Amino acid sequence: MSDLDAFRAEIRAWLEENCPAEMREPVRDEADVCWGGRNFRFKNEAQKIWLERCVAKGYTVPDWPKPYGGAGMSPAEAKVWREECARIGARPPLSSFGIWMLGPALLKFGTEEQKAHYLNQIARGEIRWCQGYSEPGSGSDLVSLQTFGEDKGDHWVVNGQKIWTSYADKADWIFCLVRTDKTNKYQGISFLLFDMTTPGVTTRPIKLISGNSPFCETFFDNVVVPKNQIVGEVNRGWDVAKYLLGHEREMISGAGGGDRLNAIGAVAARNAGAHGLEDPILRAELAMFDVDALAYACMGEKFLDEAKVGKAHPAQPNMMKYAGTELNKRRHELLMAAGGATALEWESERTNGGTPARSWLRTKANSIEGGTSEVMLNVISKRILELPGA
Ligand SMILES: Cc1cc2nc3c(=O)[nH]c(=O)nc-3n(C[C@H](O)[C@H](O)[C@H](O)COP(=O)(O)OP(=O)(O)OC[C@H]3O[C@@H](n4cnc5c(N)ncnc54)[C@H](O)[C@@H]3O)c2cc1C
Repeated sequence: MSDLDAFRAEIRAWLEENCPAEMREPVRDEADVCWGGRNFRFKNEAQKIWLERCVAKGYTVPDWPKPYGGAGMSPAEAKVWREECARIGARPPLSSFGIWMLGPALLKFGTEEQKAHYLNQIARGEIRWCQGYSEPGSGSDLVSLQTFGEDKGDHWVVNGQKIWTSYADKADWIFCLVRTDKTNKYQGISFLLFDMTTPGVTTRPIKLISGNSPFCETFFDNVVVPKNQIVGEVNRGWDVAKYLLGHEREMISGAGGGDRLNAIGAVAARNAGAHGLEDPILRAELAMFDVDALAYACMGEKFLDEAKVGKAHPAQPNMMKYAGTELNKRRHELLMAAGGATALEWESERTNGGTPARSWLRTKANSIEGGTSEVMLNVISKRILELPGA
């Protein structure tokens, strides 16, 4: 038995013993997702136990180093962990912008003190983070951002407005891009961390097409941020921001893989109700989707292997983001087509409060958030295809 086989057996046995049955059910709505944070209310005891057991083993962030709350798994071991979780349909014990975005940036740019402090908090799900990048007028052209941090010696005083800040009303802390030098566009931005309860921070939820309010306008009015809450150097926050965006794009692109255990045909058949999947064209489209989803998953594996040996092209997350989000939108279009009129119901019990329709509408944002598809294509044409004039 190879080391990896032995490791797989160990993980399988641990999951069998420790993952509660309720945590092996598909996620049906937002309340099934454990976001952690100071104000998080567990939906049930199983959700709490599953988080606690994983925290104790470092499994909320399996590939982070042990001193920072991880399990210190190698990339190959982390892949085994993911595969074994997928095999039994285990829900992620913890979902968080801290894990997907800030953590990797801190691992690369944080001081030893920041890593020990913030990464352990993230791994334990104690602090929920939000992302303060976009501003009115500064989305795709993010570098034009205007929120200003005035240097006051041992602290900055931050004034300005962010927009589309996901879960700002629920988050405990924010990682935020702030202009600290008005004379230098790229090298005049700093990457600051601060508590959302700091005086002067207010949020106002914005309603999305899905009927939910997952994001906010966020206002900063003379917010005091101590100097030790900067990640990286003063005015070099753009480097941290870009690195983090790569991880954000990989995270968003993950949705394109869909539910590997449930090929779309099986899900569509379950949702189809009385009329079934009679339309042969729809059936063909479902089959073609699964082929493309598999090809996408293979592309992801290839990129992971290239990353392991240090050969990843820095623009790969843009490819994954573009392909993954377009695929996820197509997946939900097909599920709606298969679901017929029932799938359009907004508030009925049999659709669990309109979950298919709300999820379908939510996917429309996938190709906007984290950088639009058009911007991804611009990067691909310039940096991967190296097209003249791009
Ligand atoms: C659901 C959701 C969650 C989000 N969460 C967050 C968050 O937590 N934190 C945060 O900071 N931001 C967040 N955002 C904001 C997101 O990053 C921006 O919406 C995105 O970067 C696009 O910026 P914009 O909305 O200003 O659009 P714009 O930049 O104004 O773009 C408008 C249109 O013009 C096109 N366009 C712009 N520039 C070009 C170009 N150079 N070439 C070709 N076409 C172009 C775009 O593709 C788009 O179609 C979120 C957005 C959504 C939808």
